[in-house]
Amino acid sequence: MSQPLFHRVALIGIGLIGSSLARVLRRDSPATEIVACARRAETLAAVERLALADVTTHDPAEAAEGADLVVIATPLSAYAEIGRHIAPALKQGAILTDVGSVKEVVVRDLGPHVPEGVHFVPGHPVAGTEHSGPEAGFAELFRDRWCILIPLPETAPEAVANIGRMWEMAGMRVVTMTAAHHDRVLAMTSHLPHLIAYTIVGTATNLEESLKSEVIAFSASGFRDFTRIAASDPVMWRDIFLNNREAVLDVLQRFSEDLTALQRAIRWGEGDTLQELFTRTRAIRRSIIEAKQA
Ligand code: NAP
Repeated sequence: MSQPLFHRVALIGIGLIGSSLARVLRRDSPATEIVACARRAETLAAVERLALADVTTHDPAEAAEGADLVVIATPLSAYAEIGRHIAPALKQGAILTDVGSVKEVVVRDLGPHVPEGVHFVPGHPVAGTEHSGPEAGFAELFRDRWCILIPLPETAPEAVANIGRMWEMAGMRVVTMTAAHHDRVLAMTSHLPHLIAYTIVGTATNLEESLKSEVIAFSASGFRDFTRIAASDPVMWRDIFLNNREAVLDVLQRFSEDLTALQRAIRWGEGDTLQELFTRTRAIRRSIIEAKQA
């Protein structure tokens, strides 16, 4: 059998994303030893029940020890503490990566803890669902989605290539960009839509009781799709908005201006304006379907 890409992989955080990666490794790289780390006993019990790891531990440093790849897959607010904790345990030549949804903060919080001789390649597999935890993961989650890697000036190209190969094994298309660019793109494509969904569902919950029950009854008319997005993990999304503040505020400003323009078009009966916009947005949907990202 050919050599596995990585002999020992430490997954620090094994929820939706970490457990999906574990399933990919189990499927495509069975010789890879997987060490899983989480805080709660229930999480590690689920990992054991699902046979997603060879070793489980509550201690991130113990997980990182001897690993040739360490993947941080926790909410962003845990990164700095984890980085401080695992730094002395990282072996020379190991690769440290992550899956966090914002990237400048990762370079800021984790970067300073990375010891000399360890390759640091922040990453973001742009794939997910509104579910959390190891039971929610599945190997096909990543198929045909994009994975964004953030090579730093000092990162060895070989380390970036190795991480890229792992995500390709998961079925992803891999692209590299700077952390700042990543955060601007994702503010538009992911963070703003989630904020809008949280707002709409929040507004509905503030309605008077009689209207609220009708919103639920008639949710199939549009509201339902927003509730799916707004069911995403509260801690993860709190961390995303706190850590991508500038880029989110920037796209939010543009969004409010466009919303005001639409408000005006409705007020003044400007049907052409509305129809022209809805025609353009329908075309966007079609191109997303053609790009197999629907
Ligand atoms: P998740 O299902 O909630 O899993 C989070 C994991 O991190 C759990 O194993 C949890 O362990 C552990 N954890 C939480 N806080 C921790 C702490 N302070 N110290 C150590 N471990 C901790 O989350 P997820 O959806 O996989 O997201 C993980 C990361 O992937 C986030 O940074 C997110 O931005 C990114 N991401 C998410 C998606 C998505 O759609 N969900 C997509 C792409 C990227 P316990 O169960 O023991 O608390």
